[in-house]
Amino acid sequence: MHIETKCIQEGYKPKNGEARVLPVYQSTTFKYDSSEYMGKLFDLEEDGFFYTRLANPTASCVEDKIASLEGGVGAMMTSSGQAASLMSVTNIAGSGDHIVCSSAVYGGTFNLFAVTLKKLGIEVTFINPDSTAEEITAAIKENTKAVFGETIANPALNVLDIEKFAAAAHSKNIPLIVDNTFATPILCRPIEFGADIVVHSTSKYMDGHAVALGGVVVDSGNFDWAASGKFPEFTQPDDSYHGVVYTEKFKNAAYIVKARVQLMRDLGSTPAPQNAFLLNLGLETLHLRMPKHSENALAVARFLENDDRVAWVNYPGLESNKYYSIAKKYLPDGASGVISFGVKGGYKAANATLNGLKTAAIVTHVADCRTCALHPASSTHRQLTEKQLEECGISADLIRFSVGIENAGDLIADLDQALANAVK
Ligand SMILES: *Cc1c(COP(=O)(O)O)cnc(C)c1O
Repeated sequence: MHIETKCIQEGYKPKNGEARVLPVYQSTTFKYDSSEYMGKLFDLEEDGFFYTRLANPTASCVEDKIASLEGGVGAMMTSSGQAASLMSVTNIAGSGDHIVCSSAVYGGTFNLFAVTLKKLGIEVTFINPDSTAEEITAAIKENTKAVFGETIANPALNVLDIEKFAAAAHSKNIPLIVDNTFATPILCRPIEFGADIVVHSTSKYMDGHAVALGGVVVDSGNFDWAASGKFPEFTQPDDSYHGVVYTEKFKNAAYIVKARVQLMRDLGSTPAPQNAFLLNLGLETLHLRMPKHSENALAVARFLENDDRVAWVNYPGLESNKYYSIAKKYLPDGASGVISFGVKGGYKAANATLNGLKTAAIVTHVADCRTCALHPASSTHRQLTEKQLEECGISADLIRFSVGIENAGDLIADLDQALANAVK
């Protein structure tokens, strides 16, 4: 199947006489004829559903679809992208361990890693996203359990050299985890370039309509946990499941099974069945939306680049962009829909431009079908001083522009009139 067909056909496979469309199993629990059978479910001897905290038939179908889209052996949905990032790491690292992470990651991920993981005893070293292979391996210590990066960083828009990061991680017998939220499997499939685990905030393009918060962790099935020698939790008996050894019993799905039966069981960041249903609707048009987002973003970026009122434009799809050649390799079909740019006149002019937009709405969210814009210096990052803003790469004039799937000419006309009034 091609990826367009997978968006539509994978996941839910109705049998004779069953609903054509994925049903919402709005049930916390499931009924069995014998307690012996149920006992087998609890012992992981049988496949089946018993409690929605662990697994639900609606979510399960959507997980199968996403695993297929990314080319993985299995997936686990979570209640948010944050929960997916958290579990992707805590499934393989605990107190006393260490992670290496690109510094160009989503702000929520940065806080999770720098503040909350630290409290849990997991240290994180942030490295330059453009590090050489030698610099990446130099950051990996004896207790390092993973390397983490984003395909297209939110909001810095750096493109990750996935092959380089994967090779560096593998040379030290640890996996590479990639957050593929901005690219989606339509524009890039990190597993094909050596990533071992892929995570998403499905709240963004995958849902695509800004209706349901969610996340997902996808297991490539390619990392050999036993051969690595660094992951005893995979190769030694788990007392909480009568001594199951994940790599022996679940082979190359050990990672994703362990994440579900340990972390989802204990932490419970479960997706609502209704949200899984909504996500599935979004996924059915993902292959139509991502090329349109990319095409519109490129048109808007070209307009801005040629406009005198604009100081600079950052979009990896522009020939002038630092990441253009790397984007050509990893994102040959388009560089997704998010652009950042600066207007002449700094903070005041940027704020005025935003206020003047009529079609594009001011919202915190990015990456849905409607065009939206944000001026971080006066909103999400307004507590920061000018110097702190500079340190996190957010200039006072920066506007983040998430290009939707409307008509590109209408979006450009909207920007044009807003700039005319804001930048004199
Ligand atoms: C939004 C986002 C997250 C967090 O996802 P939530 O669904 O908001 O919890 C993680 N990574 C990236 C790249 C994001 O854009």
